Amino acid sequence: MKEIILLKDGEIVLKGLNRRSFEDVLKKNIKNSLADLGKFEISSAQSTIYVKPMSEEIDLDEACGRISRVFGIVSYSRAAMCDEKTLNSVLATAPVYLERELRAAKTFKVEAKRSDKKFPYKSPEICREAGGAILSKFPHLKVDVHNPDITVNVEIRDFGAYIHGDPQKGAGGIPVGTGGRAAILISGGIDSPVAAYMMAKRGIKLTAVHFASPPYTSRRAEDKVVRLLQKVSRYAGRMTMYTVPFTKIQEKIKSDCPEELFTIIMRRLMMEISQRIARQNDCSALITGESLGQVASQTIGALECTDEAADMLVFRPLIGMDKQEIIDISYKIDTYDISIEPYEDCCTVFTPKHPRTRPILKYVKEAQERAGFDELVEEAVQNLKVTYISAQD
Ligand code: ATP
Ligand code: MG
Repeated sequence: MKEIILLKDGEIVLKGLNRRSFEDVLKKNIKNSLADLGKFEISSAQSTIYVKPMSEEIDLDEACGRISRVFGIVSYSRAAMCDEKTLNSVLATAPVYLERELRAAKTFKVEAKRSDKKFPYKSPEICREAGGAILSKFPHLKVDVHNPDITVNVEIRDFGAYIHGDPQKGAGGIPVGTGGRAAILISGGIDSPVAAYMMAKRGIKLTAVHFASPPYTSRRAEDKVVRLLQKVSRYAGRMTMYTVPFTKIQEKIKSDCPEELFTIIMRRLMMEISQRIARQNDCSALITGESLGQVASQTIGALECTDEAADMLVFRPLIGMDKQEIIDISYKIDTYDISIEPYEDCCTVFTPKHPRTRPILKYVKEAQERAGFDELVEEAVQNLKVTYISAQD
């Protein structure tokens, strides 16, 4: 039996005249996410996107899994294509295609959608006939129009007739690439991969920036970040990661700045360098995984000092979230297990015993200027390592 995947797009519908270009980006993102699974024909009509596999060997379970992570899709259904667009073909296909689900169910209903108004039967007739055909094959079933175990959907469209069960929930959001570009400051922690996911969900195309301080941080810590980004890429698409050599800067902070300001000055320098990289990559904002009050460097006062180091817009999508809420999302996007692997992040090198939770911007800036980081910042930006990231399970 030939199958197809039918998708409903979401907020795209709200975008009026931009709808076409949003839909084009969404189709391109779907195509990219399925590229290595085989050839698909992707088209749209009547507010539905059709993803049609062009060979029998294609793994449709995997294809549905990939589609479930593409932003801009509200729901999707794996469906059977009837051999002919006739009532007889519908009646023959529905009980066979949904046999397993119908056997397991106690109650069902049929819903018919007739977008091809030339089809000679109206929706209520299709429902009645299909319901009868199903009941005669599965006499244990009862019809329940309010709360059925399974809804059998019959869709009569311009290009054919399709049968499917209950639609699956899509990833929501808006298509990546329709919301501009931003640079995510990514550590190996729990929070920043979640922040990346959340902004990609709002249509942002990501560039990643990671600070590494070898030999204080290891090769494996950097590899961990690559693996986290590969998980994020399943939602956000391909991205470039820039690794910033941060050792000399951190050593200078340690030798030339007051200990209680180590972290805050380090974070300011991260923002400054990230902003430089962002500008070079057409990004118009920075993204961090900061959450208010989570640690000493994330109090209002500390964030005020960090924020001042960049004039670019900074997105902090986790700012009002509890740790457990962030962890729940990290489970969902499958980054949690990697995040908790125990490798040092540069943030934990030279942490002060008593960090200032209420740093005063004026003094922080004075201390930073006295030490003078301009040359080292320049050197770091000239020596970035580039890694290309694509989706991996
Ligand atoms: P995370 O779990 O994301 O590491 P965290 O709660 O550990 O966050 P911090 O370590 O203070 O908090 O970092 C705050 C934010 O700064 C991170 O969410 C991330 O955006 C950025 N950041 C921290 N370390 C690095 C790093 N080595 N490279 C790039 N960005 C970093
Ligand atoms: Mg961290």
